[in-house]
Amino acid sequence: MKQPLLPPATIGILGSGQLGRMLALAARAMGYRVHVYSPDPQSPTGQIADCEFVAAYDDLDAVRQFAQGVDVVTYEFENVPAATAVACREFASLHPGPHVLHVAQNRLREKQFFVSQGLPTAPFVGVSSLDDLLAGLAKIGTPAILKTASSGYDGKGQEKIVNRQLSIVNRQWEAINRQPAILEAFVEFEREVSVVAARGIDGAFAHYGLIHNDHANHILDVSQAPADVPPEVAEEAVEMARTVLEGLNVVGVLCVEFFLLANGRLLLNEIAPRPHNSGHLTIEACMTSQFEQQLRAVCGLPLGDARYHSPAAMANLLGDLWFPHAALRAPESPNWTAVLAHHPTIKLHLYGKTEARPGRKMGHITALAETAAAAAILVRQARGKLEREEG
Ligand code: AMP
Repeated sequence: MKQPLLPPATIGILGSGQLGRMLALAARAMGYRVHVYSPDPQSPTGQIADCEFVAAYDDLDAVRQFAQGVDVVTYEFENVPAATAVACREFASLHPGPHVLHVAQNRLREKQFFVSQGLPTAPFVGVSSLDDLLAGLAKIGTPAILKTASSGYDGKGQEKIVNRQLSIVNRQWEAINRQPAILEAFVEFEREVSVVAARGIDGAFAHYGLIHNDHANHILDVSQAPADVPPEVAEEAVEMARTVLEGLNVVGVLCVEFFLLANGRLLLNEIAPRPHNSGHLTIEACMTSQFEQQLRAVCGLPLGDARYHSPAAMANLLGDLWFPHAALRAPESPNWTAVLAHHPTIKLHLYGKTEARPGRKMGHITALAETAAAAAILVRQARGKLEREEG
């Protein structure tokens, strides 16, 4: 790749959801061209891109055609098949590299990587048979969580095991379709936190500190930053994230998700080698958003200043909000005026998804305030204007 890649070069994005959309918006702002590749037409990213390729990820002829038209390829989801990544590299540079995908696509490899770097994680064992699972339970004890090694997200492909009775364990092994899996000790964490960080082609490192994440039904609900933790905990988390980005030689943005225990200990849960839902608040709160940072990193530009202008919070808007009354079958456009009227710092982001479905991420709102906790109250109250009135 010619260094650095300057506008109007063309950025290729694999995957066409909201993360690609916000990257494309950042790229457009800087005068880059954007091509996107995914199986979905009229996608959130395709609506912003100059060119939308609609084909299967394993259609390698189409992938090569896409890669020939771009200067660099990056991705907005980590389950890009290895062959697709390799085909892209025949014609364009790919950041982060295929080895990062290899590790991030598999929970067992991910955990083994943490161990190889001396990073703390919950006790785990690899599972490829019922016997492995029973032996793992004998070692780790209960409660434990059984997770498919690949393609699980937002709690999908996960079973919490509380009872070691053979018939029950067998049923849970069947529930994940006897796929290769990992068994982890269940962690009684105090909260979940993340570090979103970027690494440039020259090895420069930038980060957004520690972000505090609340989940609902295994899906991220509200993020707030900076997380209210002692400074040494935030510093330790950032150093662990740096170890991950350097250990994997990442060029781009990567998020590390942690469990924070009541005693202040951090355990790494998982990584995502791309911008992350918990980093959406950086669009309004920081000098350089996580999306601009990804763009700069993959283009070989200097990273931008990641400092915060203000504490902030973000609330996800799931498709459920389009169905405010129990009896409503057809979706109804939410009352965005009420949300924005709640407070003038509220910012609305909608991803252009044509169909609202319960649990589907349709957009998010961000608020700025004197403290992260105050911002979290604002986004919850503003979103509350849309929620179903019970009874
Ligand atoms: P994951 O897909 O690994 O991020 O898991 C989804 C959610 O399940 C996490 O955000 C946690 O809330 C919960 N979870 C995952 N692993 C564990 C664990 N070992 N102990 C306790 N809770 C967990």
